[in-house]
Parts: sequence; structure tokens; C-alpha cells
Amino acid sequence: MIYYKTAEEIEYIRKSSLLVALALAEVAKVIEPGVNALQIDKIADEFIRDNGGVPAFKGYGGFPNALCVSPNEQVVHGIPTNKPFEEGDIISVDCGVLMNGYFGDSAYTFAIGDVSPEVEQLMKTTKESLYKGIEMAVAGKRLGDVAFAIQNHCENAGYGVVRELVGHGIGKSLHEAPEVPNFGKRGSGLKLQEGLVIAIEPMVNMGTKQVKHGKDGWTIKTADLKPSAHFEHTIAVHKGEADILSSFKYVEDVLKERNELIV
Ligand code: MG
Ligand code: MG
Repeated sequence: MIYYKTAEEIEYIRKSSLLVALALAEVAKVIEPGVNALQIDKIADEFIRDNGGVPAFKGYGGFPNALCVSPNEQVVHGIPTNKPFEEGDIISVDCGVLMNGYFGDSAYTFAIGDVSPEVEQLMKTTKESLYKGIEMAVAGKRLGDVAFAIQNHCENAGYGVVRELVGHGIGKSLHEAPEVPNFGKRGSGLKLQEGLVIAIEPMVNMGTKQVKHGKDGWTIKTADLKPSAHFEHTIAVHKGEADILSSFKYVEDVLKERNELIV
């Protein structure tokens, strides 16, 4: 069952998604070598609560934290630990907020200091593929058009696109119908129409597309332990152009100020 949103509901999802964006910007202010995932988790958790939201992931299916923090070979759903980030790491930080009964969801992959050119290219291609997908997320196109745009961009660069995990509808639930895969056939799948709100989130591996599940029951890792990148926006489908409800602007303003890598 797909719940199409009214304009008013979309504004609530925008508010929640904006708080996610601002929480990620708080993370951007401090993330560097020596800092650990539990520290950024605490910052985001407090910031979200101080601004009237609830961290959406905490307690979701028993997940223990406000952020999923997934370094390097971890694809998604990493549980924060006290292991310090190191120069050259890439860290996917995924954040969700519930506010006024509506969810927002967004993720950003941060470079810790200088990363290798190969890793930088992986991050860049992953982020580009998110926007290629969003370009297709307009009324009249199909979910397969979104999926194909992402897959094609990443596979042309020689990367593996994860199959087991997908984007999703979002609104009064964090994860609702439809599933939004990052691979598929042009012209296939659900026809997009106004009022559909989805989280698009390519998870892209430098090597094999295969993943394996960590012993903690949450963490997803690449099967070959090569790095993986992840960027996510919550968007509303419209005619002509998608409305991006989350934002990377606040994160990237901070990164620019700090002279950190923006891909
Ligand atoms: Mg997310
Ligand atoms: Mg999501």
C-alpha cells in the first residue's frame, strides 16, 4: 500500500528532513581523525532532541543509536563504536528524524582527512548517481528509470551496486512502500506520481556488489572488504522536477569552511 502525501504532509517531511540535514552539519563540524562514532552519535542525538525531534533510528528494530555510522568496508547500518576515525577513512553517516508524526532520512559519506584518489572517485560517483536518480524521479517516469540511472552511472565507472538494500517510501513510517532499488530496467516498475515521497540511497562498492552480514545482526559489509559509499536524500515527486526535502548544503557549508573534501 502506497500512501501519497498531501502538500501539507510534504511540508512536515521537509521539516524533519531539514533537521536531519542540520544534525549532519553538526557531525561535519567535528568529524576528523581521532574522533569516534559514539561521539558524533551523541552530538546528533542531543541536537535532534534540542530541536524538537526524536532520533528515528534509536530503538528501531532494536538499533541502539541515533546514527548509523559505517566506515570504509561497512556499507550501511554500522553500530557506533569508540574506535577512532583514521586519516584516509570514509564514513557513511545515516540519520533519521521523527517530528510532528513524520520522518526524514538522509545520509552523507565523509572523508577523514586525505583519502586516496580511488576512494574520492568512489564517493564522487556515488553522490553523482544519487542526483542522476533524482533527475528521473518525476511524475510520469517509473521507479525503474530512477534505478537504471543510478545503476548505469555506477557500473559504467566499474563499481558494484548493492542489491540487498534499497531506498524506500517515507512519511508516517520510516520505511514504507514502495521499495526504491538502485538497479533496474528503464520503463519498468511503479509509475511515479505527485505526492509520492521516497528516500533514494545508492550504496556503491569499489569492488564486488556482494555484501555480507556482520555478527552483530546489523552491520552490512562488502564481501571483499573494499570500501563502499552511501548518499541519501528524501525527495517528493512532482511534475517536471523532484523536490529534494533533505539537503547537503548545511554539511557542505561546514566542510568548505573547514577545508575538507567535498566530492
Ligand atoms: Mg538513511
Ligand atoms: Mg533510508
